[in-house]
Amino acid sequence: IENTTALSITFNNVCFTYPEREDIALNTISFSVLQGEKVAILGKTGSGKSTLLQLIVRNYDPIQGEILLAGKPIQSYSEQSLRQHICLLTQRVHIFSDTLRNNLQIANSQLINDEKMRDILKLVGLKNLLEQPEDLDLWLGDGGRPLSGGEQRRLGLARILLNDAPILLLDEPTEGLDRETERQILKLILAHCQHKTLLMVTHRLTAIEQFDLICIIDDTKLIEQGSYTEL
Ligand code: ATP
Ligand code: MG
Repeated sequence: IENTTALSITFNNVCFTYPEREDIALNTISFSVLQGEKVAILGKTGSGKSTLLQLIVRNYDPIQGEILLAGKPIQSYSEQSLRQHICLLTQRVHIFSDTLRNNLQIANSQLINDEKMRDILKLVGLKNLLEQPEDLDLWLGDGGRPLSGGEQRRLGLARILLNDAPILLLDEPTEGLDRETERQILKLILAHCQHKTLLMVTHRLTAIEQFDLICIIDDTKLIEQGSYTEL
C-alpha cells in the first residue's frame, strides 16, 4: 500500500453468513471510515460486532457486497500486507505458551526492544510480572505463570500499545475492568491511536464523545451511524 494517508475502510452493502449456519450474521452493512478516524461500535450481545471486525482482517469473506481498503477490495491485498496495516485485538486474548517477551512481540512487524516492553507493561499495570527473576523471559501459558482474566486483557492491551499498524481493531478492550481502570486504559489507547484509524467495539459509553463516528449495530443491521452530537 503506497499512500498510507489514504487508508480508508469502506463497507458497501456487506452481507455475511457463517459457514454451516443458515441465519445471516451481518445484513447489508455500509459505512466508511477515513484514515485517522476513531469509530465506536456499539450494540447488544450477539448483534454482529465481533463478526464485523473478523471480516476486516479476512478471517471470513462477505457473501455479498464488498469491503474496500484505500479504495481497493481487501481481497486484492496480500495476507502479509493486510497484517502489516491492520491489527485486531480479539475479545478473548490468546496467551501463547512462550515467554512474556514473545507474547508481546507477536504480530508485530518490527522488533520491539526490551526497555520499550517494560515501559508498556508498567503503563498497563502489569509491573508485577517483571518482579520475577526471569524478567521478560517469564514463561506464560501452559505450565507457566497463570494470568487472571484482567491480566490477560492488560497483556492484550500491551500488545496493542506496542503495535505499529496504522489501523487498529479492538474488540471490547476494557471488558471486565473497573471504571477507573477503563478510563485510564481508554486514555492510553486514544493517545496511542492519535494518528491511527481505530475501530473499537464497546459495551459502555465511557469517553464516547472522543470518537468521530458511532455505529450502532442491532440484530445484524447497522441501525444508526453518526457523531456523538448527532446521535
Ligand atoms: P458480543 O457482544 O456478545 O460479543 P457480538 O455483537 O460480537 O456479541 P458476534 O460474535 O459477532 O456478536 O455474533 C453474531 C452472530 O454470529 C451470533 O448469532 C453468533 O452466534 C454468531 N457467530 C459468532 N461467531 C460464530 C462462529 N465462529 N461460527 C458460527 N456462528 C458464529
Ligand atoms: Mg463480540
